[in-house]
Amino acid sequence: MDTFLKLGIMGYPIQHSLSPLLHAHLLQVTQHNGEYHQYEIQPEHLAVELNKLAEQNIRGLNVTIPHKVTVIPLLDQINPEAELAGAVNTIVFEDSGTRKIGYNTDIIGFIRSLPEAVKQQLPKSHILILGAGGSARAVMHALIQLNTASITFALRDAQKAVSMSWQADLIRAFYKSNTKTRIVSLFSLPDLTSFNGVINTTPIGMWPEHDQSLLTPNQLKTLPVDAFVYDLIYRPLETKLLKDAKALGLQTISGLDMLIHQGIASLELWLEESISPDVVAPLRAELVRAL
Ligand code: NAP
Repeated sequence: MDTFLKLGIMGYPIQHSLSPLLHAHLLQVTQHNGEYHQYEIQPEHLAVELNKLAEQNIRGLNVTIPHKVTVIPLLDQINPEAELAGAVNTIVFEDSGTRKIGYNTDIIGFIRSLPEAVKQQLPKSHILILGAGGSARAVMHALIQLNTASITFALRDAQKAVSMSWQADLIRAFYKSNTKTRIVSLFSLPDLTSFNGVINTTPIGMWPEHDQSLLTPNQLKTLPVDAFVYDLIYRPLETKLLKDAKALGLQTISGLDMLIHQGIASLELWLEESISPDVVAPLRAELVRAL
């Protein structure tokens, strides 16, 4: 594809997004001519603004809070993964903008961000997920797809459990997966001895409240020594949760890796070509400098 690529991200509010820097870097290293803009669109203007962008020859959009779910009825087609996830984070505009197709690259972004050894172990792993929002659903989708032995959700609000369980059933059936799921209260977490990995999908620990963590070092101490701790937050790069886990010698993974891989997966959809994994390390270094 050698035409000028018009790309962007839409959300409200759009603050401190790393996506413009990420995509400017990727367009440059993949030698594509294009631009990536931030579009701040209020919820009540979503339909009108989306149509305007479609008429302006845009090729692709990332979608962020609060439009990931509400954009779905405005699209012409949703790919099966995004449909199961119930959320779209990427739109591809086809046929000069007359067809808008929705995808969810958070799922593949999370899968690609996992170290190979962690991925291999998932069918024998018991994973604790903190939170049940949009990103928790993408993570759940990925873990069920990879046939993880079990997922335990720790929630502060039991009402969320109903739709989580219903969605887990659909994903399990789609992938013919054996993943077991259960819900516990965040406030009565048992010790963590039985978990091989913990994933924080809540905003607790995010800048500027970066001195907070949902788990104490004493709780983390009860994890097996070969467990991993993943925080979806990428600002700061190393949250308190990750610092505490690292101090105990546990393997840690930052949300920056998922951000990078969802961005690469979105660009692959817009370009209709795959991007070499060699781009990841220099891109990561540039984003770390910007954080
Ligand atoms: P979301 O849909 O608003 O969900 C947030 C979840 O956190 C909800 O389950 C919420 O519980 C829970 N929560 C919020 N405050 C809490 C508290 N004080 N105590 C316990 N639980 C609390 O948000 P999201 O889109 O999933 O994003 C969550 C985080 O992930 C953000 O920091 C975001 O930056 C990050 N993220 C990173 C990536 C990446 O690529 N690395 C991608 C997406 C998101 P309730 O439902 O009870 O309110």
